Amino acid sequence: MLTDTPLSEAMADARHNMEICNACRYCEGFCAVFPAMQRRREFSTADLDHLASLCHGCQGCFYACQYAPPHPWGINVPQAFAEVRAESYAAHAWPQPMGVVFARNGTLVSLLTAGIVTLVLILAGAMQSSDVMLAPHSGPGAFFAVISYNVMVFTASAAFLYALLAMVLSTASFWRASGGRFRPIHFARALHDAMTLKNLGGGGDGCNYPGEGFSFSRRWLHHAMAYGFLLCFAATAVATIFHHGFGWIAPYAPLSLPVILGTVGGVLMLIGTSGLLWLKILADPAPAARAVLGGEYALLILLATVAKTGLLLLVLRGTGAMGWLLALHLGFVLALFLALPYSKFIHGLFRTAALVRDHGER
Ligand code: SF4
Ligand code: SF4
Repeated sequence: MLTDTPLSEAMADARHNMEICNACRYCEGFCAVFPAMQRRREFSTADLDHLASLCHGCQGCFYACQYAPPHPWGINVPQAFAEVRAESYAAHAWPQPMGVVFARNGTLVSLLTAGIVTLVLILAGAMQSSDVMLAPHSGPGAFFAVISYNVMVFTASAAFLYALLAMVLSTASFWRASGGRFRPIHFARALHDAMTLKNLGGGGDGCNYPGEGFSFSRRWLHHAMAYGFLLCFAATAVATIFHHGFGWIAPYAPLSLPVILGTVGGVLMLIGTSGLLWLKILADPAPAARAVLGGEYALLILLATVAKTGLLLLVLRGTGAMGWLLALHLGFVLALFLALPYSKFIHGLFRTAALVRDHGER
């Protein structure tokens, strides 16, 4: 046995699980975790971090396991790995002191959101008279009559670039610690697995989520959320090209490309996040790690709120509600950008990095 000490309780539990699983091997066809486990005879903390990021919490091995609680060995791989992942996010957070956010993720992401939204509403109210905030605005430049273009672009760009930098540096730190060797072909295969959520298909019947029965609902809802998010991002990119490339000023017509992308993206995001929240409420608590649930709820609620306020803004943009709705939506978008590196979102990047290493090992 390895002696890289001190081991946290979560790491010790994950190692206990892997040592028994490696002797048992009943679940070897379930997911990428078990073949990767079988390539090891001992489990360092870097190995456990890697295996935990390969796990997507489908719960299949929990329901299949003859050693799961109430058996005295208490094997609960999805729970053990969820706790290791939370420690891993904290250990690789950038800047490092921000790792503490993962200790009470749900509370701190909620407080950050409330603080930023309140600040944006106060600043919007201080920078504009209530007549301007409550008046209906129409035609090109209607949004910028409420919040100036420069303020909007500077704050959103600064928050987005900070989030991007923090996530790239966190993932780079995770990758270095895992000791993986980068090859473009392994990256391409990992990206394919991540974009198709291949592993959420289980052995072909889907995940054991939210309960013991097999279901594809988590996979499809996750697809809706992720591709909805990307379409909203594409809508913003196209609007930026319209503004700077062609001099076409927002708001755009209902059948213009940015509005179509944003509407489809917003609806998909809302369906995906609401469905995932519903599944989480229904989910069997036995294989879950209670310590991370608050953060998962907080991120899903924040994503759903960004989608909802964006769609509401689209519907009511010609009315007197537009001014405050725009400020509210901008506040939630800023909160989302700043929360992303310190939320469950980082799992998508760590998991892709783990898949690259896994393809390399194969
Ligand atoms: S989860 Fe249980 S059944 Fe599956 S490999 Fe581990 S010990 Fe065996
Ligand atoms: S919970 Fe699912 S993904 Fe995680 S180790 Fe078990 S079977 Fe694999």
